[in-house]
Amino acid sequence: MSASVEGEVKPGALYVVATPIGNLGDLSPRAMAVLGQVDRIAAEDTRTTANLLSHFGIRTPEGGLVALHDHNEARVADGLIRDLAAGGSLALVSDAGTPLISDPGYALVRAARAAEVPVYTVPGPCAAIAALSVSGLATDRFVFAGFLPAKSVARRAAFEQLRHEPRTAIFYESTHRIEDSLDDLVAVLGPERRVCLARELSKRFEQSITLTAGALRDWQREDPNRGRGEFVLVVEGVPDAADDAAAERVLRLLLAELPPSRAARLAAEITGAPRKPLYALAMKLASEDEGEAEGAGGDGKETDGR
Ligand code: SAM
Repeated sequence: MSASVEGEVKPGALYVVATPIGNLGDLSPRAMAVLGQVDRIAAEDTRTTANLLSHFGIRTPEGGLVALHDHNEARVADGLIRDLAAGGSLALVSDAGTPLISDPGYALVRAARAAEVPVYTVPGPCAAIAALSVSGLATDRFVFAGFLPAKSVARRAAFEQLRHEPRTAIFYESTHRIEDSLDDLVAVLGPERRVCLARELSKRFEQSITLTAGALRDWQREDPNRGRGEFVLVVEGVPDAADDAAAERVLRLLLAELPPSRAARLAAEITGAPRKPLYALAMKLASEDEGEAEGAGGDGKETDGR
């Protein structure tokens, strides 16, 4: 590991640099060094980046800031790659967070790779990862699904895909649609699915709360401020069918020796499956067993099968 930021920039290399998602204190010392040393900076919005640079007193060479956004990326990327191939260094930034994550830069990085230009990361803030890490939902497997669609029909279709999705899902959402999106989420996935709403992360009014979808929708409506700002929605996955089967096997073994509530509690501890459904299943299996025993025993008299 090295903490050195001097002489960081190599000629002919592209640096993908993350910038703050709200709190300017999150710009890393290495990001500052790279932004101060590269020949050019490709920025989603040159005014936003100029403000950031001036806040930190970072100077760029004359004409060093180049606009690279969704509408010109394919065209501008070619020229930037030529400069890189000629030995110039370049940093790529977006307005906030990690470039390419629901932000421009894909065409440039792809073209750099194709031209065998070295691409280095200067990692840092990303709203999706920040929200996931505070959500309290499973982080071992997750899908990032970008922005939720603007129209309800498409949004419901996006939620529909999560009906059996075992991984945690992360969405970006804009201010104007958060209420409608929570309505759609409840309509498709039901009020019981757990969801984290994270807003204004790293900013003054940062808030993140994880509740069942129904409760979250009510919470969000209690205060108009909760509909303001930038949002990430993190949606809990459903347990794997394979995990369910494993939990059921463990439960059946324990039920042979223990009462349903203890068997369910132990099975939940052993497998990590939620206790409530295991308890319901334990009660069902126990009553089936009783039914079978009664059926086999008939009127309680011993029979020898004759
Ligand atoms: N590249 C950025 C990143 O790494 O997170 C994302 C850019 S995307 C155009 C902007 C969206 O990210 C916002 O609409 C919001 O959904 C989410 N976002 C960005 N900053 C956020 C913050 N401070 N708190 C919550 N969500 C944020």
